Amino acid sequence: MATANRVDLDGKPMKPITICMIGAGGFIGSHLCEKLMSETPHKVLAVDVYNDKIKHLLEPSNLPWADRIQFHRINIKHDSRLEGLIKMADLTINLAAICTPADYNTRPLDTIYSNFIDALPVVKYCSENNKRLIHFSTCEVYGKTIGSFLPKDSPLRRVDDPAYYVLKEDTSPCIFGPIEKQRWSYACAKQLIERLIYAEGAENGLEFTIVRPFNWIGPRMDFIPGIDGPSEGVPRVLACFSNNLLRGEPLKLVDGGQSQRTFVYIKDAIEAVLLMIENPARANGHIFNVGNPNNEVTVRQLAEMMTQVYSKVSGESPLETPTIDVSSKEFYGEGYDDSDKRIPDMTIINKQLGRFPRWNPKTSLWDLLESTLTYQHRTYAEAIKKSMSKPATT
Ligand code: NAD
Ligand code: UDP
Repeated sequence: MATANRVDLDGKPMKPITICMIGAGGFIGSHLCEKLMSETPHKVLAVDVYNDKIKHLLEPSNLPWADRIQFHRINIKHDSRLEGLIKMADLTINLAAICTPADYNTRPLDTIYSNFIDALPVVKYCSENNKRLIHFSTCEVYGKTIGSFLPKDSPLRRVDDPAYYVLKEDTSPCIFGPIEKQRWSYACAKQLIERLIYAEGAENGLEFTIVRPFNWIGPRMDFIPGIDGPSEGVPRVLACFSNNLLRGEPLKLVDGGQSQRTFVYIKDAIEAVLLMIENPARANGHIFNVGNPNNEVTVRQLAEMMTQVYSKVSGESPLETPTIDVSSKEFYGEGYDDSDKRIPDMTIINKQLGRFPRWNPKTSLWDLLESTLTYQHRTYAEAIKKSMSKPATT
């Protein structure tokens, strides 16, 4: 419970602070709000256009943290109240973004505006008012690995040598595809806002931390098409595969499901963010990879594991053909491209935030899928059954 006597990693007592959290109503924001309300004395000014995912923290009005969280329905694109909220807070955390790959090549302008232009006033207000900023970027700023651009038979393509693929904040290059591959518009916009924040730090003394999440997954991620999101919408892979499993359809493997990802459980990742919030002296001026290098799978392996886990939690037998292959053009349209492999180097986070209590993303892929798919089944199975039993409208 909210806590007197909190100390930072250096044993110094910590004062309660006020946090302006932009994008608080999203997947990561909802878990961060939950953590801050249940385990710390900090206050949150929660800014978003939606609040469905944090409703349970806002109502009823007699919740134990009711006086520590306020929701402000604000679109940061055009709302003059934003600067006032940033001024009222000690720290701003910016999570707001369009961040689903299906949008990058189909809504490239919205993607660039959301990830760069709309973040500009946030950075400016923090800098001008001497307020600390934690900005959410992405592992996608690394783009593709060096090896992926070399010819398949190149002697330089040492796929088994980590020097060719482990992604390090301070040394790895950012390697994007050509402009017509609009997939990279997101990564490019995120990279430019990172550079701007870094420059504000260097020239104007902005106190900043940049977070690069590596595929954080868990309950409340995205939406299930046709249930709590548009029927034609394409969420990120966890929700796509959950949707297929809930509907008893084969999981669609884009371009053979050969891309590799490391997945980290949202609750492990949030622990790292809390350490950044409460240890400004250790976190300021740094860019942090936040992921779990031990949970690497191909997308095909993820599909296989999700099929097994779902069968366990739902009691339903898996389909005879649990997956089908689809081309990226068919699934995402023109201009899609993919990151081939994403393994975070953990040196910087371990060095800066690695003393007791050491940050250690400990949840295995199986365990995190089990708790997440239990949530998906409990939350959506009935609604899906109902929607599937309705006669189709002509
Ligand atoms: P999300 O889509 O669930 O949350 C983003 C929230 O921002 C949404 O609630 C949305 O309504 C809000 N928002 C967007 N534009 C807004 C605006 N103009 N005004 C007010 N609110 C606005 O996404 P998430 O997974 O929680 O991601 C949060 C951040 O982390 C993003 O910046 C994303 O790029 C980054 N990130 C996340 C992951 C991951 O694994 N989840 C990976 C890489 C990067
Ligand atoms: N993917 C897939 N089937 C789906 C959805 C996604 O094969 O139904 C693949 C996608 O092509 C990518 C990976 O899963 O290789 C992860 O996609 P996600 O949308 O979660 O985001 P990313 O990790 O690419 O940012």
